[in-house]
Amino acid sequence: MNLLVVGPQGSGKGTQAGRIAADYDIPHVSTGDMFRAAVEAGSELGQRVQPILAAGDLVPDELTVELIRERLSEDDARAGFVLDGFPRNLAQAGALDAMLGSIDRGLDMVLFFDLDDDIALERMLGRARDEGRVDDRPDVIARRLAIYHEQTEPVVEHYRATGLLVPLHAERSVNEVYAEITDAIAALEGRRA
Ligand code: AMP
Repeated sequence: MNLLVVGPQGSGKGTQAGRIAADYDIPHVSTGDMFRAAVEAGSELGQRVQPILAAGDLVPDELTVELIRERLSEDDARAGFVLDGFPRNLAQAGALDAMLGSIDRGLDMVLFFDLDDDIALERMLGRARDEGRVDDRPDVIARRLAIYHEQTEPVVEHYRATGLLVPLHAERSVNEVYAEITDAIAALEGRRA
């Protein structure tokens, strides 16, 4: 089962992706987590992306696409994955579609976490207080949301057009949203059975 989660920061997609991964035994592949781990480890990649993350900008596509290509070719991703934080723009979406197409795979479902900006902002500011992420500062948050609208919303429309999109009202509780996700997965598995 090849899943993708997309939505603004603060929409709970990371939490839900982690839960899906645990319950359906597929890896949670989060580009944000991978970049943060690289920064933490002080690797060459980490040193390169650290200022980009701190500013809330996007890491260049070549680096990000290569990271995903390598990660999805690992053994544990053979039975499926839940991709989180990628693709962030149409160029990355095109690269992902081509990458999966070349190995005769495709996405099964794109879960879209729909959330108003004011709630997204409120949640990110809360997370800034609780977790102290460098990119959860108010000015950086505004920049990340602006990039989401400019570059990532077209990705949502791309997958809406291909019929893969499952829209979710992300302002509801974690359990309510998750119940809808498991229903959508059951329907998908029913269609495939
Ligand atoms: P996230 O945790 O998904 O919000 O990602 C944190 C940061 O990592 C982003 O603000 C970007 O700087 C970088 N990042 C994560 N995913 C991508 C991506 N697909 N393309 C470019 N940059 C990314």
